[in-house]
Amino acid sequence: MAYSEDRSTWFEGQGLWQHVPASDWQDWIWQLKNRITTTEQLEQLMTLTADEKAGCAFANQKLALAITPYFFNLIDRYDPDCPIRKQLIPRSGEMVVSDGEMLDSLGEDQHSPVPGLVHRYPDRVLFLVTDRCAAYCRYCTRSRLVSNAQDYNFHPEFEQGLRYIEAHPEVRDVLLSGGDPLLLSDRKIEHLLARLRAIKHVEFIRIGSRIPVFLPQRITPALCDIFKKYGPIWMSIHVNHPKECTAELKAACERLSFAGVPLGNQSVLLKGVNDDAEVMKALVHRLLRMRVRPYYIYQMDLITGGSHFKVDVRKGIEIIKALRGHTTGYAVPQYVIDAPGGGGKVPINPDYVEKITEDEIVFRNYEGGVYRYPLKAGAPATGPASAVQSIIVH
Ligand SMILES: *Cc1c(COP(=O)(O)O)cnc(C)c1O
Repeated sequence: MAYSEDRSTWFEGQGLWQHVPASDWQDWIWQLKNRITTTEQLEQLMTLTADEKAGCAFANQKLALAITPYFFNLIDRYDPDCPIRKQLIPRSGEMVVSDGEMLDSLGEDQHSPVPGLVHRYPDRVLFLVTDRCAAYCRYCTRSRLVSNAQDYNFHPEFEQGLRYIEAHPEVRDVLLSGGDPLLLSDRKIEHLLARLRAIKHVEFIRIGSRIPVFLPQRITPALCDIFKKYGPIWMSIHVNHPKECTAELKAACERLSFAGVPLGNQSVLLKGVNDDAEVMKALVHRLLRMRVRPYYIYQMDLITGGSHFKVDVRKGIEIIKALRGHTTGYAVPQYVIDAPGGGGKVPINPDYVEKITEDEIVFRNYEGGVYRYPLKAGAPATGPASAVQSIIVH
């Protein structure tokens, strides 16, 4: 199955919401208030499959259903295999718990010195500042705590988290995530960034957010001013499919970039969504055009009810092979598995090295050709002086 797209166009417009004034449509609060959150609302907009109906009925016990009107427009309502639809509309597969799946597959709770703060690596922490998102990805790693469908009772503790970071000089990098940090008010975001910036040992602040993708209207000039004031603030967005790269997202990325926010992208490898080299290539090309550097492709975490999204690791390696060398180096992300139980992110790379000996390394290039690079220190040159020496002499 070959993927093709019109590379010269960027989807834009109000789609099914033509009747709404543009000023409402562009207002992020309006988008949040008008989210699709019930099966009944969904069914007014589209015909659900039996599989989706069963998934929707189960969603309230697992992870809430929520889709912004803006993002709903990207769903092909007539195609049950639409890659956007699969990411947001629950399916019965969510009810299936397979071997090895866990509620907290990354062992985050064991690595939390205070609630909402995960200190797994020596020099950086993950700071979960909210349990809410603009819309819910059905393969969410933190579905145990996000959206509060599971009575997990997660209450982000800003103050405790900030005090922990202040008291730990080894923490030079703070990653704000959740939930989605950009769902907080400007006032709360400014407070958090101001407090973090005031900590001398915190050198690097970044935000993990899918808000630019689900709710580009949230990237207001006022929010960008806050990033400018406390910058550099880095941001990782989360785009999985080229269809998500709309004119609105492109404009939001531009506002962020112009406010000095370097942008990266994290994708999750998902069955029927982006487990295809042509789709991934189209995605990374669109990302570069939006000033976004592809950062990670994740093998999906072993979350409960996720097996219907699972892709063979060999497919992921094949996708990286299809990118490396065949396209812009900047477009090639790292393919990683976040080790189950809390081992951290580990790169899963195609093997280019054939052999390393005392004398040489033998390796293959992107076309499969074999190359050699000698490792022995060169013997002193004999005979006529080298070209370099000649230049110096004359
Ligand atoms: C992903 C992650 C980080 C950041 O890892 P990088 O490889 O630096 O992007 C930090 N802490 C935790 C717990 C994480 O899961």
